[in-house]
Amino acid sequence: MDFDFSDSEIQRYARHIVLKDVGGTGQMKLKRGRVLVVGAGGLGSPLAMYLAAAGVGTIGIVDDDVVELSNLQRQIAHGMSDIGAPKVDSARATMLNMNPEVTVQTHQMRLNAKNVLELIGQYDVIADGSDNFETRFLLNDACYLAGKTLVSGAALRFDGQVSTFKAHLGAPHPCYRCIYHAPPPPDAIPSCSQGGVLGAVVGTIGGMQATEVLKELMAIGDSLSGQLVIVDALAASFRKIRVPRDPGCPLCSDAATIKDLSCHEH
Ligand SMILES: [Zn+2]
Repeated sequence: MDFDFSDSEIQRYARHIVLKDVGGTGQMKLKRGRVLVVGAGGLGSPLAMYLAAAGVGTIGIVDDDVVELSNLQRQIAHGMSDIGAPKVDSARATMLNMNPEVTVQTHQMRLNAKNVLELIGQYDVIADGSDNFETRFLLNDACYLAGKTLVSGAALRFDGQVSTFKAHLGAPHPCYRCIYHAPPPPDAIPSCSQGGVLGAVVGTIGGMQATEVLKELMAIGDSLSGQLVIVDALAASFRKIRVPRDPGCPLCSDAATIKDLSCHEH
């Protein structure tokens, strides 16, 4: 692989390049990588910031919201002076302040069945930092149909989970619907605004997602595909469980009933 790093990039990424599993080759893979971060909130903030700091060459960030005071307890890409500003603009400024070598593309919009395929088509890996089941299922289905790797995370109260989905590669890789067939009924599971969340817990989960995205881009280590990491911050425990592909999955099995995104149109 040809390396084209400036002297300042070699200095900036020295602690990466010295790692045997990264080196110049891995750092070049990051530079050529294109990652879409969905949501510029609690998970999206550490995700986007670590990906930018790590030198992922092109990072997209999608969010339709503006910064509010109640966000600042956990959404560390934003500060007091950003209140009222679009989250994508605030996050982009934070990322470029850390690392002006990367390109940050902002998408101030809400993902839906009509725009998601065009958007994810521009990226290699999708990182889900969204806060609702509608978006999680939409992204799972769209990434499967488009053949994109999805690094998924969620956090509520003191708990969180992380996994990677690439069911488009076939068995034994599961998709999100292999675990949760369909979205839960509205209000069955509280949102963070209803149930609360410890700010540092979204930092733990978002930071783990960033690590998994970097591993996927460099193709190093063990992928989390087929496994789910469950974090219980009050117990200070991390558990990893196996998640099999479901032969009855409505999306990725031979018996699939979902062939396109029309079930998300309403
Ligand atoms: Zn599935």
